[in-house]
Amino acid sequence: MNVSLLMLGSGTSQGVPAIGCRCETCLSDDPRDKRLRPSVLFTTGRSTLLVDTSSDFRQQMLREGVRCIDGVLYTHHHFDHIGGFDDLRQFNFLQNTAMRIYGLQNTLDEVRLTFRYAFGDALQLGGGVPSTILHAVKPAIPFSIDAATVTPIPVMHGVLPILGYRVGDIAYITDTNHIPETSFQLLEGLDVLVLDALRHKEHPTHFCLDEAIEIARRIGARKTWFTHIAHNIMHERDSALLPENMDFSYDGLLITSERGSHD
Ligand SMILES: [Zn+2]
Ligand SMILES: [Zn+2]
Ligand SMILES: [Zn+2]
Repeated sequence: MNVSLLMLGSGTSQGVPAIGCRCETCLSDDPRDKRLRPSVLFTTGRSTLLVDTSSDFRQQMLREGVRCIDGVLYTHHHFDHIGGFDDLRQFNFLQNTAMRIYGLQNTLDEVRLTFRYAFGDALQLGGGVPSTILHAVKPAIPFSIDAATVTPIPVMHGVLPILGYRVGDIAYITDTNHIPETSFQLLEGLDVLVLDALRHKEHPTHFCLDEAIEIARRIGARKTWFTHIAHNIMHERDSALLPENMDFSYDGLLITSERGSHD
């Protein structure tokens, strides 16, 4: 079974360009310097699994012509990763079913708090609410969505434990500055790694570029793509800093595992 990953948004929480910014990257004409908020779409066999409903979710779905999502995998509750939640409504209409949502219990609790009108707490409904079924997942314990097997990868985002996800031989790990030893075992034999690399300077909750390169070397995937990229990084200019098998991802990039999946 082949696995692919479509880069829906390779940007950081403000997106690139940032509103009102006149820096070189924000003024760049290179389409790879236009980055929507962070999200990816895994496709494996007949299943389409969305990772996070970013603040740019609607725009991403329209751009890529997505008409079906079989499940949403949340990495964590920061708003750039959940902000598009309300637009899951349209997939309720298209698929005539509730959306299955997966994440750590803490993440699901925060989604319920942030969008409480969608969980039975609305005084007056407007255009309807997203219909969802929440499934709490356990760190490092693989689970199935139809025929697809998903492994949640525990990582740290500052003091917050969050999840990356591995499907077949592709892993997506965003918003992290530390990968626990036990999680490296879950990343063995990877074909493709997509990893957080926020900017050049160190940051308390994200890998900076040098740290990301070092971790990517240790994980040793055939190919590593960096994501959650801030405007301090300019695609063409800074690509020269990267080792041969690593690159900055960009919106619209389609990554296919050359090995396919184990399942
Ligand atoms: Zn983020
Ligand atoms: Zn800028
Ligand atoms: Zn975050």
